[in-house]
Amino acid sequence: MSVRVRFAPSPTGALHIGGVRTALYNYLFARQQGGTFILRIEDTDQNRYVQGAEEYIVESLRWVGLLPDEGVGFGGAFGPYRQSDRKEIYREYAERLVASGHAYYAFDTPEALEIRRNDEPNFTCNHATRGGLVNSLTLPAAEVQSRLSAGEPWVIRLKVEPGQEIHVHDLIRGSVVFQSNELDDKVLLKADGMPTYHLANIVDDHLMQITHVIRGEEWLPSTAHHVLLYRGFGWEDSMPKFAHLPLILKPVGNGKLSKRDGAKFGMPVFPLSWKGETPEDSFPGFREAGFLPEAVVNFLALLGWHPGGDQELFSLEDLTAAFSVEHISKGGARFDFEKAKWFNQKYIQSADNEVLATHIRPLAEAKGYRVSDDYLVVVAGLMKERVTFLPDFVELGYYLFEPIREYDLEMLQKKWHPGMEQVFESLAAVVAPLEPYESGVLETAVKAFIQENGLKPGDVLSLLRLALAGTMKGPAVFDMAAALGPEETVRRLRQLVAQGGKVHQRVENA
Ligand code: GLU
Repeated sequence: MSVRVRFAPSPTGALHIGGVRTALYNYLFARQQGGTFILRIEDTDQNRYVQGAEEYIVESLRWVGLLPDEGVGFGGAFGPYRQSDRKEIYREYAERLVASGHAYYAFDTPEALEIRRNDEPNFTCNHATRGGLVNSLTLPAAEVQSRLSAGEPWVIRLKVEPGQEIHVHDLIRGSVVFQSNELDDKVLLKADGMPTYHLANIVDDHLMQITHVIRGEEWLPSTAHHVLLYRGFGWEDSMPKFAHLPLILKPVGNGKLSKRDGAKFGMPVFPLSWKGETPEDSFPGFREAGFLPEAVVNFLALLGWHPGGDQELFSLEDLTAAFSVEHISKGGARFDFEKAKWFNQKYIQSADNEVLATHIRPLAEAKGYRVSDDYLVVVAGLMKERVTFLPDFVELGYYLFEPIREYDLEMLQKKWHPGMEQVFESLAAVVAPLEPYESGVLETAVKAFIQENGLKPGDVLSLLRLALAGTMKGPAVFDMAAALGPEETVRRLRQLVAQGGKVHQRVENA
């Protein structure tokens, strides 16, 4: 049977970066097995539904390049793929379970249950308590019927039989055993006619012919109920295989990475930025921070999986080839943002300058810089070894777009002396007419000038660098000059002369 896996997020807000990892592992597994990757939106909990969350999920998947083969907005023969559009289906299945004795109607009001909970802190509806509650197991059949016909509110609950051991074979964790005595009678169909997660998830996994359920560790305890549901429906033979992914841990120490950790550690924990109702509910994203999606994919893939060996850089194709569920670790994976930055640097360095230019274009435009595509390609080449995030191209490298805002005054003071005024005036005259105005030509001419005038190369080249970038950091000096062109180079040399004069005066007056 061909592999069919699903990513089944609930649109309850921005999709956490851990959700993107779950999607990635599902995607890789599907691709590698020649299977199908499905996006199913689990939106049956109306109270937790958040406007815009579904669009956010799809946009996030698009950004990292994990396009579903089937799903909401992607078509497919097993739709609809949004659970709220499948509402009618679930009731029938819940009633089937009642008819076969695996579930029951429960008429206890939320208030009545609340009173019980207040009296008995450990109270749940289960095999031990259901005999004393108001349900189709305790009421005469005729009364159940009359309550149902009278439109009294009810829910359908799973009837968990006591005294059973439930074995779940997890592909990552091996055999996990649950005792049915410890399980509650989960609600399957709610009073509003909507299914709960458990019912909808199992019915859909069955109807969509899901072969493998790859999801976060937090769902492992629910799996016991899920196995009981498969048994209740008589679907145990076609039950999917389970793989529960390790938790993603905080950058320091233990504990699950939470959405609040972003602000705490100054890093994004969401793929895209999210604007919630309040500032506390608004979060920055990896995309807006200036990550390349390929870097994020590589970083996420290694959060809990490694094929062995010491390779760290994996393209999506490499990952697809190397991926295996067996190499997913059981233990939690630390969310190391420094590592994420390292991946981004690597991916920026190896990206084509033309591709980088397309990323720099909107950043440059946002700053009001009007430059040609060719120029952006040059900027990409000059700066790519020096940046961590995409906005660094226009932030750190701002001097490639606008005049120097500030000079490294300490360096200027060290290297400047009054004679430099004349040197730089002459240098401007030397470089202005050079043709072609290229790095090599500039280098030859400037070095010859230094030699002919008996100047110290270190001094002149440092000052030239300060003239062009204001800082001692930055790209190779002749490459910068070539990029800026003769007019701008000359303008900056003259500006340095003015600046040097001022610095000198200040030193004299001191
Ligand atoms: N809707 C669940 C979630 O939000 C899906 C869990 C599962 O994959 O079964 O994560």
